[in-house]
Amino acid sequence: ASSPTAPPHVAVVAFPFSSHAAVLLAFARALATAAAPSGATLSFLSTAASIAQLRKAAGAGSPSNLRFVEIPDGASAAAEKGAVPVPRQMEMFMAAAEHGGAQAGLDAARAAAGGVRVSCVVADSFVWPAAEAAAAVGAPWVPVWTASSCALLAHLLTDALREDIGDQAASRANELLVTHPGLGNYHVGDLPDGVVTGDFNYVINLLLHRMAQRLSQSAAAAAAVALNAFPGLDPPEVTAALADLLPNALPFGPYHLLLPDDDINATSPAAADPHGCLEWLDRHPSRAVAYVSFGTVASPRADELRELAAGLEATGAPFIWSLREDSWPLLPTGFLDRVAGTNGLVVPWAPQVAVLRHRSVGAFVTHAGWASVMEGVSCGVPMACRPFFGDQRMNARSVATVGGFGKAFEGAMARDAVAEAVEGMLRGEEGRRMRARAEELQAMVAAAFAPGGACRRNFDEFVGIVCRV
Ligand code: UDP
Repeated sequence: ASSPTAPPHVAVVAFPFSSHAAVLLAFARALATAAAPSGATLSFLSTAASIAQLRKAAGAGSPSNLRFVEIPDGASAAAEKGAVPVPRQMEMFMAAAEHGGAQAGLDAARAAAGGVRVSCVVADSFVWPAAEAAAAVGAPWVPVWTASSCALLAHLLTDALREDIGDQAASRANELLVTHPGLGNYHVGDLPDGVVTGDFNYVINLLLHRMAQRLSQSAAAAAAVALNAFPGLDPPEVTAALADLLPNALPFGPYHLLLPDDDINATSPAAADPHGCLEWLDRHPSRAVAYVSFGTVASPRADELRELAAGLEATGAPFIWSLREDSWPLLPTGFLDRVAGTNGLVVPWAPQVAVLRHRSVGAFVTHAGWASVMEGVSCGVPMACRPFFGDQRMNARSVATVGGFGKAFEGAMARDAVAEAVEGMLRGEEGRRMRARAEELQAMVAAAFAPGGACRRNFDEFVGIVCRV
């Protein structure tokens, strides 16, 4: 069935953990829709467990030219018997991907497409073994970066940073990284975990280092690299340094805006509103409500949760707090009852994009996960960041010092700092300035995603590149 005239067959490879797979699926759906006129089909590759979860969250609807294809999870029968911790699952998946799993995924995609060869491999850049698998089938490798540009830059510069900083990360934590191109606004202590601190052999740290090496080696060869940013978001020195290292990088994020609005609402796991957040927000005045969420992984400790709760109560401002139910018993005695009767809504999950878009929301207390930062910015909401791990410290620096559309807590949240930050964002002069800056960026996002805007043009270019046969 394979011939020089076969239509494009794009394999989209997900990293099947945390919020990554859902982001890649949204990306793949947008790509499938945009590539349909060229007759392209898409194979979305993830593990069986991840596909089952995505299907459940997203419902049945998906573009007719997109099919799900399984990629090996690397789990042995023995491992499946007990509950396997996520880092171990990642290790098994990556080991399998490196030793034939990525290749097996591409073979399965070809078979599922009736023998039509895979003409392009678009992959979450975390799954770096997809690069070799792509080369083996003679297809270009197109990595997709889902986090911030500054974090990607830090990963690409890992070897130079390690050489410079060695084991002095703690004593030099407050030093600005002025000698590293593009990183001059960031401190040693802001660098993502695993760059100069932590166990370099821990699965995620190792994965990111290998990914960076792979990206650096193939920079010139990679047909394109998708960046989760819009032009004007990153400071020019970050953009310039990245362009030097990855000449084919194309920014067209936040990726969820590539989907039409009704599609976001119909398919995103973030769209369901079983706890009535939106109706609750309708009852509040404009810009009066604080929204609190630390994403899908981070979990503040009990003492910090109590400080945050006390700080929120002290402001008297209405708030929605998305907090996993296993943390509810850690809240101060009587807190849930007291706030339910007055001005607080604590929910295990909120439709975050829709909440941030709501006119009543005027402040966002966040862990500064990159999806959350992008969602906040595209809704013009100022943020108070409490970073926990990974790239969150660096993102928080981007929000507060570099971007000027929010602030960052120093370490753990204390009740007075929470009250001051929330009140400041909702009512204060500093909050007014941060909101003005957030709204400026919101307008930039809107322009970039309007017909003919920079992100639309970059995405069109991207679609053209991945659909070349
Ligand atoms: N999210 C949501 N509702 C919640 C909590 C989180 O929809 O109650 C979504 C949020 O909109 C974002 C993602 O989960 O898209 C979290 O991604 P992020 O990169 O911010 O953090 P992570 O979970 O990866 O640490």
